[in-house]
Amino acid sequence: MTSYDYDLFVIGGGSGGVRSARVAASLGKKVAIAEEYRYGGTCVIRGCVPKKLFVYASQYHEHFEDAAGYGWTVGESSFDWKKLIAAKDAEITRLEGLYKKGLSGANAEILETRAELVDAHTVRLVNTGKTVTAKTIVIATGGRPNPHEALPGFELCISSNEAFHLEELPKSIVIVGGGYIAVEFANVFHGLGVETTLVYRGAEILSRFDHDMRRGLHEAMVAKGIRILCHEMLKKVSKDGDRLEVETLNNGSLTADVVLLAIGRIPNTQGLGLEAAGVATDPRGAIVVDDYSRTNVPNIYALGDVTDRVQLTPVAIHEAMCFIETEYKNNPTKPDHDTIATAVFSQPEIGTVGLTEEEAGRRYKDVEVYRAQFRPLKATLSGRSEKMIMKLLVDGTSRKVIGAHILGHDAGEMAQLLGITLKAGCTKDDFDRTMAVHPTAAEELVTMYAPSYCLRDGVRV
Ligand code: FAD
Ligand code: NDP
Repeated sequence: MTSYDYDLFVIGGGSGGVRSARVAASLGKKVAIAEEYRYGGTCVIRGCVPKKLFVYASQYHEHFEDAAGYGWTVGESSFDWKKLIAAKDAEITRLEGLYKKGLSGANAEILETRAELVDAHTVRLVNTGKTVTAKTIVIATGGRPNPHEALPGFELCISSNEAFHLEELPKSIVIVGGGYIAVEFANVFHGLGVETTLVYRGAEILSRFDHDMRRGLHEAMVAKGIRILCHEMLKKVSKDGDRLEVETLNNGSLTADVVLLAIGRIPNTQGLGLEAAGVATDPRGAIVVDDYSRTNVPNIYALGDVTDRVQLTPVAIHEAMCFIETEYKNNPTKPDHDTIATAVFSQPEIGTVGLTEEEAGRRYKDVEVYRAQFRPLKATLSGRSEKMIMKLLVDGTSRKVIGAHILGHDAGEMAQLLGITLKAGCTKDDFDRTMAVHPTAAEELVTMYAPSYCLRDGVRV
């Protein structure tokens, strides 16, 4: 029998890679994991976690304003960007340490190096040039921001990576894109006092979300003072002294201190040695896998963003856990990508699970739409003009709830719980017989008794 240096070699120390390595090692497998930048990967180092800390930071000015309606007088406030960055960096370093501790505690060997495939069982450690062999290999190298090289002046722009380490808080920013990152960062920078313009190529931001969420958020962002230009694209970015000059297709020109490109992420497969190992990729460079995250080379798996299935942290972790079941527990398990709850940490937030109204109309003959729009209780005394939107989509035949969408405070938290109900196949009648928790905003989800309107063959009736 061939002997290898390791039972498992994992390339990439992000969400999916660390989970695969740690759990395999805890099962007694001989495991090594290589990371070329920092353990924790995108989510911990320059994604979900620092982003959410920025979101919290950017909400304080509204909290201070709202306090007056509740009798508080808040003294003069000011914001220190460098202090936020330092506090955020300290927390990220702490988390990185926990990730490493988890790996070493499980006896996985931690390698601080880039790794590349030499053949189906051999990996080269770039720092030393040494090669090692493994029976099984997991590729979990994630993705990176699309640099938009077709845009003249793209090299003057930043991506979300740099947004976490700007030397100074800019006075003005142009953000390109209409997806998760563009929308979240537009709200963060605006909340921190930056003059913010969002430039999106399509008709409405967040193209994959329910139309009520998209419109409702757009209106709320504009009401706060964020400028949103739809049907618009950048033609050229150039330097004008300390500032950037942005030429757009329709609106002429904009100037800003910083231009942030957030137009999607590209799988990290370049120079990885995939050809040498015979691993197939699709035209976007994503690794092609079967239902069990196995590549066309039987001993090599790929999971997380590098496979470009659903680019979310819990999905990468779930795929890693399925890999463990399949490879080490004699229990072939397919990752389940159906009905994934997700949140956009905009202000207000979007929390969503299941089908949009448009998708529901296409897939189901009869759809009942329950929709409520109201001013949350907290906004009464604060005087803030904000609205919350809640929406349930119900299959008129089976009565199953097939989509749930919320725009408003804590929508992400609510989406997590709604995710359980949709996964369990709950019907509208289950929602109706659930007692409300009063006074909450979420109680609206169980007190919308009559449909606002219905769809028949996708058409509103
Ligand atoms: P990653 O976490 O990207 O890890 C891959 C690792 O591999 C990286 O650390 C990289 O340095 C390393 N690597 C690459 N090539 C090599 C090599 N050859 N050798 C060694 N190491 C290598 N998702 C959510 O669910 N919720 C959110 O709120 C959220 N917010 C986000 C905000 C931002 C700004 C971004 C960019 C992403 C966000 N995401 C969010 C997405 C989430 O971060 C990713 O889906 C998740 O990190 C994917 O995990 P992964 O293990 O596939 O890859
Ligand atoms: P998204 O896929 O969410 O959005 C990309 C945006 O860029 C879309 O609006 C798209 O437009 C637009 N776009 C694409 N190509 C171009 C182009 N050439 N010129 C102009 N605009 C373009 O990607 P993000 O970069 O925002 O985020 C990457 C992924 O990270 C997300 O998909 C998500 O999975 C994950 N993420 C999750 C978060 C969360 O869970 N809260 C937060 C941040 C990231 P169009 O819609 O018209 O195609």
